Amino acid sequence: MIFIEDTEKKKPDEPTKPTEPILPYQFGSGQNKNRYAEELMFIDPARIFNMYERMNENQIKGQKNLLHLHLDWMIAQSHKMEPTAICPHCQENPVKYFRVEWYYPDNRKLDHVACETCKNILKYSPEEDKIRKINFETIARFNNPQNSGAYQNALDILFWAYKLKNGVSAQELFELFKRANTAPSE
Ligand SMILES: [Zn+2]
Repeated sequence: MIFIEDTEKKKPDEPTKPTEPILPYQFGSGQNKNRYAEELMFIDPARIFNMYERMNENQIKGQKNLLHLHLDWMIAQSHKMEPTAICPHCQENPVKYFRVEWYYPDNRKLDHVACETCKNILKYSPEEDKIRKINFETIARFNNPQNSGAYQNALDILFWAYKLKNGVSAQELFELFKRANTAPSE
């Protein structure tokens, strides 16, 4: 057998950096037809992560389709994105954590988010483990058909934490992922 690693030879200096796409990814068929990957990442991140996992498991060595490459990029970018909404407790720093609440009325949601400095406010001992970082992977794990309310609450927090407005376009979300390149790192 002969192995020719073309892709590795082309970019010896940055072998793992995903290619930056120029447009948001629109699904052409299937259950996500006409939706965008960027949109799904905010309204149903569990769907994106499941899809990505399946693609990684079933990948033929060295071969990735356009969607797979796009998800490589988008998920890598999502790791660099920090929420921008301001902490409702100190009114100063961006929020970073939320407290897992399975049931609570909508109008109390913002009592359950906090920045790094204020996060102790969220701790009602002995349930410290209920404090989670606001990020896509964490929120995707709330997807549970038996309790869709918790997932929806977490998604609302995600949407709020990135200061998104209803009706935000796929292009705007795409720009948000792109900008993560230049965002200050932690
Ligand atoms: Zn704060």
